[in-house]
Amino acid sequence: MKLIRFGEQGKEKPGVEIKGKRLDCSGFGEDWSEDFFGSDGLNRLEKWLQQESSQLPEIPQSIRLGSPIKRPSKIICVGLNYSLHAKESNMPLPEVPILFMKATSSLCGPNDPIIIPKNSTKTDWEVELAVIIGKKASYLDKDKAMDHVAGYCLHNDVSERDFQLHHGGQWVKGKSADHFAPLGPYLVTKDEIPNPHDLRLWLKVNGEMMQDSNTSDLVFDIPTLVAYISQYMTLLPGDIISTGTPSGVGLGLKPPRYLQHGDVVVLGIDGLGEARQEAKDFGKV
Ligand code: ZN
Repeated sequence: MKLIRFGEQGKEKPGVEIKGKRLDCSGFGEDWSEDFFGSDGLNRLEKWLQQESSQLPEIPQSIRLGSPIKRPSKIICVGLNYSLHAKESNMPLPEVPILFMKATSSLCGPNDPIIIPKNSTKTDWEVELAVIIGKKASYLDKDKAMDHVAGYCLHNDVSERDFQLHHGGQWVKGKSADHFAPLGPYLVTKDEIPNPHDLRLWLKVNGEMMQDSNTSDLVFDIPTLVAYISQYMTLLPGDIISTGTPSGVGLGLKPPRYLQHGDVVVLGIDGLGEARQEAKDFGKV
């Protein structure tokens, strides 16, 4: 299944996409939230759709898409999880996964603008495969980890490099501004992605290919990450794990290049769709 949410920001309604048609699932009576995933919602929704899908109202393609999941308890990101990206960042390849958090208030729709924050000079892009947790997970063994995954999304881990690296303390400052986590277009359930470790992921800025890699190059794979993170915190249904970005970010270019008002970012991952985001200065949105 492909889950979407649509409508005005903050007032999104749940839906699904079936064979390219977007269908309104308001009649199911639940949003795609922690409660939904944590109460076997995907299986219940699948059964409901078998009865109802032919009668559901179709949503026009012009309607805004929101984040395909309702704001979850946390967004956990993995740093330097592709070897060439660690190299371009002048950092050593990690021996254990590097983790940092991103404020959940940074979530937005896949085609919403990237807002360049106040006082920003170094807003950068990062295409990433995001894993969505389907079942509460604590102290997992690696061989059980995939049972706790609901599916996958396309994510742009938008980053302000000056805030991230030169404002003291942790990376969280450079990762958490509003609209720094465009997610979607949809959540694709894991049954539709038989091998998440062989997906091309790419990102263009103003039509120019900047990142073009494959999840086969992940340093730490998905079961390793889910099990590892669950040793430090309980993962709740709906939580997002963003698995890291490949090389080709603005920071790694010589000279570095950052997003300017009017730049257009287009990104995609095999099977997870595409997204388009226009950069806009704070105050001009
Ligand atoms: Zn990242």
